Amino acid sequence: MGNNFEYDMGIIGGGAAGLTVASGSAQLGAKTLLIEKEQELGGDCLHFGCVPSKTLIKSAHVYHLMKTSSAYGLPTVDVPPVDFAKVSDRIRGVVAKIQKHDSEERFCGLGAKVLFGDARFTDEHTIEMDGKRISAKNWVIATGSSPIAPPIPGLVETPHITNKEIFYMDRLPKAMIVLGAEPVERLGHFNADGAGTQNDHGFGQPIHIEDLFVRYMGCFG
Ligand SMILES: Cc1cc2nc3c(=O)[nH]c(=O)nc-3n(C[C@H](O)[C@H](O)[C@H](O)COP(=O)(O)OP(=O)(O)OC[C@H]3O[C@@H](n4cnc5c(N)ncnc54)[C@H](O)[C@@H]3O)c2cc1C
Repeated sequence: MGNNFEYDMGIIGGGAAGLTVASGSAQLGAKTLLIEKEQELGGDCLHFGCVPSKTLIKSAHVYHLMKTSSAYGLPTVDVPPVDFAKVSDRIRGVVAKIQKHDSEERFCGLGAKVLFGDARFTDEHTIEMDGKRISAKNWVIATGSSPIAPPIPGLVETPHITNKEIFYMDRLPKAMIVLGAEPVERLGHFNADGAGTQNDHGFGQPIHIEDLFVRYMGCFG
């Protein structure tokens, strides 16, 4: 292939990193293509990380304040248990609001072309997607990371969830064991006590936290 590339900049992955590159590149006038394999842009931060976790922390904090109102000189309130389906609905609502800022329309408006699909490289400048080849002078691979089930004996057979599911549960589990420290340890806002610290912003569920890195990193060789 000569130097007649269709795009100056191709980006694979529409998470925080890919969106930042796409925005900068398009606004600087480079012909920019952004490819995302999911149906929406935003990646982990919007859908399974920063945004849902901070929204959940806010709900947990407000619930805690309701339960401890007398400590603030306020009337005591009889607080019913949390209906987590409603908390999840609120999280979905907040994500949907922010989705507008991470939308195809917004990035097209900035001058980038956005395509949804799974790309594969055919050479250093060319990808193939849906039977079509697309070339770019430069490619940025911003495909992020995904949760894994680490090689802990018995884990695969044991029902478990990750940050992909936890914010969208339809009910609050009676108790939880959290494997992993940062950032999932922050899920202690369900109410952590395993690490010797009583989290005071929680929903009141017992949680035990194991620091996966310290205890199990050896498993990765
Ligand atoms: C619970 C939790 C809370 C967090 N809280 C914070 C916080 O408060 N503040 C903070 O700064 N960070 C936080 N993080 C970290 C933050 O979410 C990540 O640092 C950030 O999402 C990384 O962005 P990224 O673009 O590198 O990857 P990702 O967000 O993973 O995006 C990668 C994108 O690439 C796409 N992709 C993958 N493969 C392909 C392919 N072959 N073709 C096309 N597209 C593909 C994926 O679908 C995804 O959309 C948190 C993370 C978690 C799990």
